Amino acid sequence: MPLIDTLNRPLRDLRISVTDRCNFRCVYCMPKEIFGPDHQFLHRDQILTFEEITRLARLFAAHGVRKIRLTGGEPLVRKDLPDLISMLAEIPDLDLTLTTNGSLLPKHARALKDAGLKRVTVSLDSLDNAIFKSMNDVDFPVEKVIEGMEAAAAVGLAPIKVNMVVKRGLNESSILPMARFFREKGYILRFIEYMDVGHTNGWRMDDVVSAAEIVKLIDPGTAAPEPVSPNYQGEVAGRWRYKDGKGEVGMIASVTQAFCRDCNRARISAEGKLYTCLFAVKGHDFRDLIRNGATDEDISKFISKVWSGQDDRYSELGSGEHHLTNKVEMSHWRLISQK
Ligand code: SAM
Ligand code: SF4
Ligand code: SF4
Repeated sequence: MPLIDTLNRPLRDLRISVTDRCNFRCVYCMPKEIFGPDHQFLHRDQILTFEEITRLARLFAAHGVRKIRLTGGEPLVRKDLPDLISMLAEIPDLDLTLTTNGSLLPKHARALKDAGLKRVTVSLDSLDNAIFKSMNDVDFPVEKVIEGMEAAAAVGLAPIKVNMVVKRGLNESSILPMARFFREKGYILRFIEYMDVGHTNGWRMDDVVSAAEIVKLIDPGTAAPEPVSPNYQGEVAGRWRYKDGKGEVGMIASVTQAFCRDCNRARISAEGKLYTCLFAVKGHDFRDLIRNGATDEDISKFISKVWSGQDDRYSELGSGEHHLTNKVEMSHWRLISQK
C-alpha cells in the first residue's frame, strides 16, 4: 500500500541528490559569488554511501515509491556513479532516471546504460553559446552538451528529455530556437519557470517568464502547440503537443500554476536528509538514524511517520509565502545560512 499524507497524496517519486558539487555555476542555481573557491562543500564522510542510498531506496520502494531520479549538484561528478546505478537497478518495478548537465555524458553514457539506467534528462538553457555560457558561468559550450545528449541517445538512454530554465532578460530569445531544434531531433523539451528556491539566486517574480508566455512564444503560426492530458497523476510537466502531430513540449509551471495537490515527490539530500517539499525549511535526518544502527523496521517507521504527517504545499500558498528563512538550495538540498 502506498503511503498517504494528510492531504491524501501518495509517495511515488523520490529524488536523490548524490552530491552537492557541480562543475557548472549556473547563475540561477549556484552563483559564483556564493559557490566560489572558499565555499565549503560536504566532506566525503558526510554524504551517504552507495550502500546507504540503496538501503533507503529499497525501503522507500517498499512504501510505494515507483520512480527514483538521481540528481545533485551534478550527479556525474560523483565517483563511480554507475556502481550505484547497478545497485539501484536491482530494485524491482522501479523507473530509474537521472538529471544531468550533460557535460560528462560522452564519457559515462555507456557505463550508465550497462549498469541499468533507463533514461536521462539533460539540462540546457540556450543554443546560443554567448547566452549559455553566461548562464553556466564556466564557459561551457552548447556543442558539448548536445554531444552528451547524442551519446545518451546512441546507447539507448531514451527518450531524452531536455530541461530549459527560462529567466527573464537572459534567455527568452532562446525559447523558439530551442523548441524548433528539439522538435526536429525528437527530444522532449521541458520549459521550467525560474523558481524561488534557496536564497542565493536573488529570485524576483519579475524574472519569471510564465508558462503561458512561453506557449505564446512557440511558433505562433501553424505549429502552435495545444494542451494534452498528463501521462499519469502527479506528472509535473504540463504537456503540449504540436498541432501537426510532430512532437511535444512540456511546461513546468511551478510558480504560476502550482501543482501541490498532485505532488507525490520527496527528496533526499546528499547528506541524507529527507525533504517533503522543494521549499521545505526542515529536513528529516536519515543519515544519523542509519549510522546509529537503526534496523530496516526503524527506518521504515520513520519514513511512514514523516510522510503520513506532512501537509506541505508551498507553491499553492503563493510566492509571498516563500520568503522563509533557511530554505534549501536547489543544488544540494541542505541548509546554508541566509546572506
Ligand atoms: N546538475 C544537474 C542539472 O543541471 O541537470 C542536476 C541538478 S539541477 C539542480 C536539476 C534541475 O533543476 C536542472 O534542470 C536545473 O536547470 C533546475 N534548476 C536549478 N535551479 C533552478 C531554479 N532556480 N528554478 C528552476 N529550475 C532550476
Ligand atoms: Fe550545477 Fe545543475 Fe545547478 Fe547548473 S543547475 S549549477 S548544472 S546543479
Ligand atoms: Fe510539491 Fe512543495 Fe512543489 Fe508544492 S511546492 S509541488 S508540495 S514540492
